[in-house]
Parts: sequence; C-alpha cells; structure tokens
Amino acid sequence: MPSWDRRTPQQQAKVRDAALRRQLRDAVGPFSPFWRGRFTALRVPAASVKTAADLAKLPAVGERDVCPSGDPADAARLVLQADEAGFALHAYGPDLRKALVHRLTGAARYRRAVEAETRPTTFHFAGRGLRFPVASTRNDLDLVARAGARAWSVLGLTPADVLVSAVPVAASLDHVFLSYAALGAGAPALFPGADPAAVGDALRMVPATVLAVRPEDAVDVLSALDLGGVRTVLLVGAPSEETRTAVAEAAGDRRVLALWGPGEGRVMWAECAPGSGWHTYPDLDYVELVDPETGATPNGAGGEVTVTQLGFKGSALLRWRTGDVVAEGLATDACPKCGRTVPRVPAEVSTSHLHVRVNLRHTDDEQHVDLRAVAGALAGRNDLAGWLVEVVPSPREHESDLVILVVPTGDETEAAVGAYRDVRAVAGVTPSQVVVVTPEELAARRPPADTGAPRVVVRR
Ligand SMILES: [Zn+2]
Repeated sequence: MPSWDRRTPQQQAKVRDAALRRQLRDAVGPFSPFWRGRFTALRVPAASVKTAADLAKLPAVGERDVCPSGDPADAARLVLQADEAGFALHAYGPDLRKALVHRLTGAARYRRAVEAETRPTTFHFAGRGLRFPVASTRNDLDLVARAGARAWSVLGLTPADVLVSAVPVAASLDHVFLSYAALGAGAPALFPGADPAAVGDALRMVPATVLAVRPEDAVDVLSALDLGGVRTVLLVGAPSEETRTAVAEAAGDRRVLALWGPGEGRVMWAECAPGSGWHTYPDLDYVELVDPETGATPNGAGGEVTVTQLGFKGSALLRWRTGDVVAEGLATDACPKCGRTVPRVPAEVSTSHLHVRVNLRHTDDEQHVDLRAVAGALAGRNDLAGWLVEVVPSPREHESDLVILVVPTGDETEAAVGAYRDVRAVAGVTPSQVVVVTPEELAARRPPADTGAPRVVVRR
C-alpha cells in the first residue's frame, strides 16, 4: 500500500474502516464511560459500527453533550479507563501479543505496556463555552509526533530546519503539537514564549529557519524583530484572508504557511501552499462536515468540522462537533499543489454562528453561549408545535437578551415553564424571556431568506 498521503480514496476507506472498527470495539466502546453510556442510550452496540456509513448514523456530539451542566469535570468521562484484565481482552493484534509476552516475562512490564496504551500522561486545555482538559497517553503522543512529522513534510520543511516558536508556552494544542511536531521531524526547536524580546534573543542564539507565531501576533512580531535567516513564517492558527495578506506583506520574500486543527483534537493540519486547505491524516482522523444547526450531513457543501479520531486513546473523540465552520465542502481529489490525495479542509475557518459571546442582561459577566445547546433543549418536545431562539439587543447598551418563542400544543404556562427550566438545566443559560406566540407570529419572525427555516437567530 502507498504511503499515508498517496492512497486512493478506496485504499483510504479500507484503512479508515479497519481503524474505526478497532477504535469502537476495543477502545471507546468498552473503556470510555461517556461513549459506553451513549451507545447504551442509543441502543447501538459499539462493535456494530464497522464503516463510515454506520458511523454517520450516530448523532454528532460536542462539549455541551459531554458537560450538560456546564461542569468541565464531566469531560473526564471521555477518557478511556481500562484495567489490565480488560485491556488483555480488547487489545488488538500485535499490541495484545506484546502485552501477553510481557505478562509472561514479568508483571511489571505487562503493566507498563497497558499503561502506555491507556494511562493519560499529558493534558492540554480546549473548549469554547467551557475550558476542559484533553488527555493523551504515551502511545497517543507517539501518534502526535508521527502526525507532526507529516505536517513538517506537508509544509515543505526538513530535519535541517530550525524552529523558533513565538507561540505562548501553555497547555494548548498549538504549543503541544508544535513541540511534538519538531520532535517527530527531528528538527531542533526553541520555545521562548510570546514575548518579542525573548523571541529576539532566541533568534540571535540559533540559526533559525522557521518562525512560528499566532496569526494575531504575526505582524507585530515580524515588524519588531530582525528575522535573519528565517525563510518560513509559520502561522499557528487559521488566519483570515485579511491577516494572511498583512502577514505576507510584513514577511517580505519569506514563505508564509499555516498550521491549524480543532482545539479538542490532538493533531494540527498543515497547508502545502498558502490557502491550499488543511491536509488531514485519513488514517489518524476521519473528518466530516455537519450542518451546524441540525447536525445533518450536507452533501458536498460546507458545515461544522466534525472529527473522529482513529487509534487515539485518552480523551477519544467520535463524531465530535468542533464548533469550527467552513463554507465549502472537503476537497478529496489530489491536491493541485503537492499531489497528496488526503482530504483537505477549506482554508477559511470561522467559529459557528451558534457560538455567541453575549452580555446577557441578568448576568454580570460576558457569557459564551452555545445556542446549539439551547436549541437542543427545545428540539423534539411534544408540548411545543414550534419554537425559535433569538439573541436580540437589550434596551441596555452592550447587552443582549436571550428570547425563546414557543408555540405550545397544550397548556401554555406549563409549556413555557418547561422550556425555561430545560434551557437552564441543559444549556446552562437563563433565558431573559419565554414568549408564547401563535404559529403565524412565529413564522413571521423567521428570516425569510432561509428556506431551511432556521430556529436560531442572532440579531445584532
Ligand atoms: Zn497540497
């Protein structure tokens, strides 16, 4: 079989489905409390999901599904929790043989093999409305380094390149991935942090050829420093078209390329040329796009980036809704720039409009509200014939109201109180108002341009 980036769609599907089967049967199905509970609730045995088509039947989930009350501690339920006996039952192929050989030659070695597979050793923080830890095991970090080496090669870099990173040193995907990428690629790397003076010192100390920097800091950093032999400016994060242009200007004749990945994942994807799209790793992550409002899979159109990790333990993700939205579909033909055949996510990434940052009138602090969770609390209620969620400017400046319009099927008060209570409990936000309306009034409030009859409207 050709290498990871030159496989035909058929070869990719074969590798993906085999990895998917292992991931569901041997990892998340038996060992993750969250996914185990979810499969039970859906009445679908994890082991029955054998192909991408089977997977597509499972509803996609996001952070509010895992932390319904808004408590980030619930994200621990994503993490695989295996005991040694369970591991021997589920570990597949070569891992199982290795573990059993170790068991014969010594209990301690057997325990180490199990721990490398299943025990979280490294965490980074992710999330939008919430901030929660994402766990990686020792073996996960090997996969991260492998993905990092691939990203390095997509970026056209070699082990001879020397990296200085102006990305803040933190438990973030940006920093963690970049450090493992350099390690995986065998390239020297310095991480002085984001302070331009410290970055300048690092650039004087080593013959750097690559400067990594966040898109929002890039122009300032580039104009403040003598870049010497730096040939590549690596933006860590998805830049807007505008930022790209500004950075390219500040970078002069240096190459400007970018690296981006959803924060809850473990890997970042690289571009091979500016705006070529994010080159994914089809044997490590299966990417789908879903409609941000309904979770349905659009046919070739844009949508919310949804990730299923293959081979990762720790906080393993299945059809995970990242909240990152792209306007076009995934490219699956060979890349016109580098010829790689891996699926590519469109370069322009925005935050779902259903994640809104608002100053709700009755709270003191700005809140990050996931309107999908609000919609989720209203969808499928049999006491409502229709509903609409609106974020509207409040009479007080810089503040907003969360208004929920409902058309009850029966008792109006009971339906309104039920909707209010469930939005509070499920989405963790208190509606400013629940208004009972007629079906005609509701229809009049829906934006006419949208044929899909959106249920969530932000009026600013
Ligand atoms: Zn390419």
